[in-house]
Amino acid sequence: MNKLNINIIGSGVAGLAAAIRLSANGHNVTIFEKNAYPGGKLSEMTISNYRFDKGPSLLTLPELIDELTKLSGYPSKFNYHRLKTLTHYFFEDGTRIIAKDSVSDFADELNRKLNEDKNQILNHFKKSKFYYNITADIFLNQSISSFKNFLNLKTLKGIINAPKLNLFNTMHDINRRFKNPKTTQIFNRYATYNGSNPYKAPALLNIIPNLEFGLGAYLPNKGMHEITEHLYNIALHCGVNFKFNERVEKIELENKKVNGVLSGGKLHKCDVVVSDIDLHLVYSKLLPPQYKPKKLLKQEKSSSAFVFYWGIKKEFAQLSIHNILFSENYEEEFNYLFTKNVPFNDPTIYINITSKHCKTDAPSGCENWFVMVNVPHNSSGKDITYEAALRKNVVSKINRMLGVNIETYIEVEHTLNPFDIETQTGSFGGSLYGNSSNNKFSAFLRHANYSSKLKGLFFVGGSVHPGGGIPLCLLSGKIASKIIQEKHGK
Ligand SMILES: Cc1cc2nc3c(=O)[nH]c(=O)nc-3n(C[C@H](O)[C@H](O)[C@H](O)COP(=O)(O)OP(=O)(O)OC[C@H]3O[C@@H](n4cnc5c(N)ncnc54)[C@H](O)[C@@H]3O)c2cc1C
Repeated sequence: MNKLNINIIGSGVAGLAAAIRLSANGHNVTIFEKNAYPGGKLSEMTISNYRFDKGPSLLTLPELIDELTKLSGYPSKFNYHRLKTLTHYFFEDGTRIIAKDSVSDFADELNRKLNEDKNQILNHFKKSKFYYNITADIFLNQSISSFKNFLNLKTLKGIINAPKLNLFNTMHDINRRFKNPKTTQIFNRYATYNGSNPYKAPALLNIIPNLEFGLGAYLPNKGMHEITEHLYNIALHCGVNFKFNERVEKIELENKKVNGVLSGGKLHKCDVVVSDIDLHLVYSKLLPPQYKPKKLLKQEKSSSAFVFYWGIKKEFAQLSIHNILFSENYEEEFNYLFTKNVPFNDPTIYINITSKHCKTDAPSGCENWFVMVNVPHNSSGKDITYEAALRKNVVSKINRMLGVNIETYIEVEHTLNPFDIETQTGSFGGSLYGNSSNNKFSAFLRHANYSSKLKGLFFVGGSVHPGGGIPLCLLSGKIASKIIQEKHGK
């Protein structure tokens, strides 16, 4: 085998996954990370005895992490559990829906509370599973930029079934067939799992409920940050070399081939560079301008988030780990997010409370609230001016819907806005998941996991194929390392 020197830029989950796979294949791997810690968006913080996961709160497909543990021979397991209750949904008129981890129970709940036809719900999930099974191998598990990948049986089966996939419908076109608009709203919400607009995103995203209900929603036993810790420890076990506080300033080229990365004015030579940072950054800061894929960079970005981290000196029995307080006008909320580019004044609020399960995340009798609102990505790069108005809307909506005066219980507070997300992780405008999926062909339009113009340059992470979110980022690491092995490693 050809032992390669590989430099990876960024230690997000995708960078860590690629590093583990490549070093397990026998290559010398070094990760350059501008922060003092690994994990990128998947990091944590503690304020006065309250621990908070800073970014992701929902884990699906944990087997992708188990796969890394196994292939590396790392001796400790990744500890996580499947959630029995997925989400508590709250509506302004007092309706409350509890989504348990059972399609049948959920269908009963929607039948009881929203007068939905149980069979229609079960059928919706059946289709979600069917679509997932035939599309995952085409869009998620392999590079779609390689023609030879379209010649395997599973992919051909998916292509034959394409007419059944409602490729020309939006999610909402399909979901509005439910009797009760509240059911439509619940199923439309899954578009936000990759920062998209259900009134524009393809119906294919209706595979996401199958991920959550069929394959399960999980929480690591010590909170989401345990994912980063586990992957970091595996990478160390495999011999990956970490260079923290090292911002890569340039990818050095020689005859259209990568030669190394420049950091702190010093050239670190290598055979292969894997970028785990936002495509905008790579093409605008690290490479000469002639390589910019202009059309691709102009595509619409996914939404961003505004997060309030609150230490709450009270326990709320009506809340679970994941809670949604819905906007009364969902369509208008997305119109604000993607057209008017300002947050809506009646925003949907997501409250995540890990201390419901991880008891040490908050002092006794208290809870660690991660209160998130979807907001537009900040393409102007300017300061956020809407914070005070947004906070006021969030507080009054929580007070109204939960019947409390929440401010009397807020003991500690910290915030994260799109500008912070960009500064801390390099994501363009703070978008959470790279490009949005508000286009019927978005799955085909993501940047490939390799450069077709520069030899030795590869891409992983939320801004490239197959997309954003922890599982897809882990898969990008898998796809890219397989291509590296095929192209260079033998
Ligand atoms: C608030 C929030 C909530 C989310 N919720 C969920 C969720 O519930 N479930 C889910 O699956 N996903 C969620 N996501 C999305 C998920 O976090 C991301 O898709 C994923 O973590 C991105 O990983 P990545 O590998 O692309 O790298 P990133 O996490 O983007 O990390 C990139 C790394 O590169 C480093 N870097 C940047 N520039 C340089 C440079 N020049 N030199 C060296 N290093 C550099 C950065 O410091 C950073 O560490 C959420 C994200 C946020 C912010």
